[in-house]
Amino acid sequence: MVGVGYPRIEIDREKLQENARVILDACRKRDINVTGVTKVTCAHPAVARALTAAGFTSLADSRLSNLRRLRRVEPELELMLLRLPPPSRAEEVVRWADISLNSESVTLRALNAAAERAGLVHEVVLMVDLGDLREGMWQDELADVCSGFAGWDHLRVAGVGTNLACYGGVRPSVEKMEDLLACRDIVQEMLNSEIRLVSGGNSANWQLLEDDEMPREVNHLRIGEALILGNESVDRKPIQGMNDDVLTLCCEVVEARNKPSVPVGELGQDAFGNVPEFTDRGWHRRAIVAAGRQDVVPEGLRPEMEGVRILGASSDHMIIDVEDASREVVVGDVLRFTVRGYSCVLAAFTSDYVEKLSV
Ligand SMILES: *Cc1c(COP(=O)(O)O)cnc(C)c1O
Repeated sequence: MVGVGYPRIEIDREKLQENARVILDACRKRDINVTGVTKVTCAHPAVARALTAAGFTSLADSRLSNLRRLRRVEPELELMLLRLPPPSRAEEVVRWADISLNSESVTLRALNAAAERAGLVHEVVLMVDLGDLREGMWQDELADVCSGFAGWDHLRVAGVGTNLACYGGVRPSVEKMEDLLACRDIVQEMLNSEIRLVSGGNSANWQLLEDDEMPREVNHLRIGEALILGNESVDRKPIQGMNDDVLTLCCEVVEARNKPSVPVGELGQDAFGNVPEFTDRGWHRRAIVAAGRQDVVPEGLRPEMEGVRILGASSDHMIIDVEDASREVVVGDVLRFTVRGYSCVLAAFTSDYVEKLSV
């Protein structure tokens, strides 16, 4: 392919669209609105287009630069900022996001002022920490934050939300969802008006949804990982009917030689400060591909070719055992790997050294 080198990551638009439809159908059946989360792919335009083609009308990202990217692709989309806004960037938040997730009064005040200057009304979701210990106010602080809205004419509270299973690994449960509904009640009482969104979580909520255990009044989810990897994110179980091979990493072989399976010499630390251990399997054929930890997380890759095994990687070399490969691997070959790990997707899309290609 002219102009596209290696390493490169291929985005299969068809497979991504199929995944998007599975999520949309499942949510529609239960009257849940769903926002597609693009941050793990840095809001790549091909990803955004596949999601909108499947029927997503709302997308979210953690970074303002990514929202700007999304706005260019699809001017009509509802865009949500996921990461709590930095007060210093309130102007850009109200410009690029229709709705943002918030937990701090100082920031809300800054957003209100920025929205007033821009002559618009900005929507906010109040985030409650139900125990995962990432963002969100504690339940008993909600009323206090709500009292500020009396003076914030350019903000509208769209809803309440929570995020679980991200930092603390706390499982979304019926109890947690009921706690969130109690938060909604507090907010509605404080504001003396209805709110439209109860945003129950992310790909970690899938099991609850599938088991039909999500309380009916939880009416919104923010889904990223499940779309890209085809799994939920608490136990990383595959979701039925979804593709687990949307993304493929292609790397070029720069060396293929027979070598011992145990280093020769006295052993100290490797490039990353670990003292590695080795099992003696005798001499093996090994390939080096031109990609490393600067670009990928090797543990999150699954070789496509039968008999191929990833041994490890330094910053820019990945070492592969190809002794039992289903065909001989030589220099210049391109080895393909399905990208399976969330942190590997993150690294590959963030690395400037990895080309991105939609196929
Ligand atoms: C990343 C993120 C999501 C999406 O999480 P996935 O596990 O990728 O579905 C949802 N909400 C917030 C606040 C996030 O930061």
